[in-house]
Amino acid sequence: MYNFNLDVLRIRPSWRNYIVKFFIAGGLFLIGGIVFAGGGRRIGGWFFLIALVFVLIAVIQRFSRLYTLTRESVSARAGIIARHENEIKLTDIREVGVRQNIMERFLRTGTVLFASAATGGVEVKFEGVYDPLSIKEEANKRKKKAAVQDKKRCPQCGEFIWKHAKVCPHCGYGFGEG
Ligand SMILES: [Zn+2]
Repeated sequence: MYNFNLDVLRIRPSWRNYIVKFFIAGGLFLIGGIVFAGGGRRIGGWFFLIALVFVLIAVIQRFSRLYTLTRESVSARAGIIARHENEIKLTDIREVGVRQNIMERFLRTGTVLFASAATGGVEVKFEGVYDPLSIKEEANKRKKKAAVQDKKRCPQCGEFIWKHAKVCPHCGYGFGEG
């Protein structure tokens, strides 16, 4: 389903989330059609209109959310007019979790939760995405890779230390300037 070879993965909530709205819309269209055919054109028209509103709400809800997983960070954007965006660097992620209710388990959708080490709280959520477990797995892989890339090996003691360290915290080896 997802192409994890891409550096920048853009994900939207699954259409499956809106199954109830589409079901209601379908029912309203059906009733509207019967009423319309029976000569109740005005009432039938109203049914069509309300059905259309349900479909529109689902479309707007889906396209107002965009989730991004790159090789450096995760971010979630919500809103069409007033936009709200949360972002965490992969190296700052403490934990990646998945939340699924019974309905979501059945539909293979759910929410991926990214908790930051900085605050300890969940800061980025991928809500209602398809196959959340595969996203969690990929995020953990990318987080590990990012952590390795953020480090270097001390030439004296062989320990992995932060890339920007000037002095090795294990053996005191100095890297000097530049
Ligand atoms: Zn060292």
